Amino acid sequence: MTDLSSDLEALRASARDRLAAATTTDAVEALRHDLLGRSGELTALLRRLGSVAADERPSLGRLANDVRHEIESAITARLESMRDVDLDRRLVDEALDMSAPGRPVRIGHLHPVMTLMRDLREIFHAFGFEVFEGPEIETDEYNFELLNIPPDHPARDLWDTLYVAEPGSVEAGQPRPAADGTILRTHTSPVQVRAMRALDLPIRVITPGRCFRYEAVDASHGFEFQQIEGLVIDRDTSLADLKGMLEEIARALYGRDTKTRFRPGYYPFTEPSVAFDVACLVCGGAGCAACGRTGWMTILGAGMVHPEVIRSGGFDPDEVQGYAFGLGPDRMTMLRHGIGDIRLFFSADLRFVSQFAEGR
Ligand SMILES: [Zn+2]
Repeated sequence: MTDLSSDLEALRASARDRLAAATTTDAVEALRHDLLGRSGELTALLRRLGSVAADERPSLGRLANDVRHEIESAITARLESMRDVDLDRRLVDEALDMSAPGRPVRIGHLHPVMTLMRDLREIFHAFGFEVFEGPEIETDEYNFELLNIPPDHPARDLWDTLYVAEPGSVEAGQPRPAADGTILRTHTSPVQVRAMRALDLPIRVITPGRCFRYEAVDASHGFEFQQIEGLVIDRDTSLADLKGMLEEIARALYGRDTKTRFRPGYYPFTEPSVAFDVACLVCGGAGCAACGRTGWMTILGAGMVHPEVIRSGGFDPDEVQGYAFGLGPDRMTMLRHGIGDIRLFFSADLRFVSQFAEGR
């Protein structure tokens, strides 16, 4: 046995011992580098092959290869047995590091339109209104017919309706409105009839929710928007009650000194109908671009509930009366914050909505 042969055997034994003593994957990797690396211990022994007698080289070469393979497979086996243990230990170490600083949690906040609707709910709650909600997917019957708008009524032109298609008609290339009259509601007014049919007198509700119209979308029109409708039904309810209520709401929203006015309006489901204006929130009534130089801004439409609608709700219009009014939270939010484009509400741009973090 040559010196080189015994040195190779010594390296084989030494590698076994040192591998057994290595307790982390880092230590095993370091050992691999020391033993098998380009300037490692085995490489150093192999360099001596050139100086041994030619007839001994083949057997020494085989021995060197044998030692290399044994060390390589021992390292691989050792690493595999350690990997799971090492991972577990690392997880435990990290989980128990009580000194590590916490990651800040990003907390969202209400959309500015939702903040305004929440404020409105609080105001109406103080006036004794409760919330009554209806479905966003409605029927033609509730959205129009029960509100005194029969199929051929010209007032239907006021609402650009999104119809749900008859099943199969789209696939057939001939889309047509569903035979059962399913539509997306164009206003929250159908909830008036639903509330009258569900509740006993006196009825005093607000009906917040989303509405949908087939609109050409621009800076002031969206295909989806919010409405809050108010409905009061009782015996001996009068137009004077409506006027007093709306003036109180305007003061709660915009301050005690807010000037208001009634103008004639038109809705098929109220009679008489009014538009309710407040003195321009921008110029205070002097006239500016925001109010079209009139000094006034319309904040809602209202009126005495039409006798036909009272009848739709299951009451006798000779015995009970009521009033209704509708607010546009999107437009009110634009006025509140000076937002010039309604499309920003749906832009999904966090830089826009994060400006309104007070709704948190
Ligand atoms: Zn103005």
